[in-house]
Amino acid sequence: MDLSEKIALQSLAVNGALVTIKVGLALFSGSLALRADALHSATDVLSALVVWIGIRIAGRSNRNFPYGLYKVENLVALGSSLLIALAGYEIVREVFSGSAQALVENSVAAAVGVALTIAIAWVFSRYELKMARQTGSPSLLADARHIWSDMLSSLVIMAALLGSAFGIGLDRYAALVAVFFIGRAALGIFLDSVRVLLDASLDPAGIEAIREVVNADPRVARINELRARNAGRYKFVELDLALRVESLEKGHQVAEELKQQIRSRLEHVDHVQVHSAPQRKETLILAMPLAADRSTLSRHFGEAPWFRLVTLDPQTGEIRADHFLRNPHEHLEKAKGIKVAGWLLEQELDMIVVLQDLGGKGPGFVLGNAEVATRLAEAEEAEVVLAEIRQDCLEGRL
Ligand SMILES: [Zn+2]
Repeated sequence: MDLSEKIALQSLAVNGALVTIKVGLALFSGSLALRADALHSATDVLSALVVWIGIRIAGRSNRNFPYGLYKVENLVALGSSLLIALAGYEIVREVFSGSAQALVENSVAAAVGVALTIAIAWVFSRYELKMARQTGSPSLLADARHIWSDMLSSLVIMAALLGSAFGIGLDRYAALVAVFFIGRAALGIFLDSVRVLLDASLDPAGIEAIREVVNADPRVARINELRARNAGRYKFVELDLALRVESLEKGHQVAEELKQQIRSRLEHVDHVQVHSAPQRKETLILAMPLAADRSTLSRHFGEAPWFRLVTLDPQTGEIRADHFLRNPHEHLEKAKGIKVAGWLLEQELDMIVVLQDLGGKGPGFVLGNAEVATRLAEAEEAEVVLAEIRQDCLEGRL
């Protein structure tokens, strides 16, 4: 059991204790509002229990029922949300039928009891909030906020109980406030379950997080498709990627690394499926660091004042585009080689042509990691080197 699971269980226990206290207070005072509040806390226990059972069931059976059992949780939640709504309706009916007593009994003592439940909720939600930040768990964060907002309903009820002590009958109105909170909880559970049962997409923030992880990898050329859905507490992610890799084996390795990164970024990711294909090259983009004369290759990579960027047809060697770019990082103090390598990657580089091997240095590592090929030039004249490369294309040597 991990830390966030443990705290979720503690939350269940605290809510259970609150239900017990509130039921006792409702019986003791005859307050309809307190009965509604007890019902509310009971629904919180119920939904937490459903989540807990869902995690257990899904965790145990996901090999045999990879698509089925995840949703048991959502199905049960859907049913329980309808029961909650029904119970809320019963209280509303009682409020308007006038059968409830106007003034409650033992109101001061009951108010003290409610104050105790508020104190428990306050202390626990502070603690849960702290742990949510520590574990980075969004579900704990949501639970802490939920307990916090439920305290509002209890505060209203406490005020009504004190009003009763002065002969002001506010209990029925307080009951309506509590029912509002019940309705809100029921609606939230209902909508969540229906969304999941209908395979709605993951929330936009989750999708964005996955996109960020994938885009941060320089070996990913393009995301063709990104789909993710919930089932129970679990997330299923499907990715279709074009990768800047030469072999399927390399592609497999990239896919594995991406899976791990997505899992460490999002909670409860059960399955990440990556379809990837090496990107079919329709162009070959190469760069050459040039000296100030713009025609001889520079011996320095980071300090070269110019870069010539040539786009070739990889089959015929035909030049599609040819540009001279000023090195934007030439005058940096530190790490210019790495900056320049990053800048070249933005130009979608396939090959770097240099006089000396960059291997073992920062820029060589950055470019090599993004599968950019290094070609050692045999001449210093850029025009001569380019002609050789074009010839290689034509003769199928590249
Ligand atoms: Zn609640």
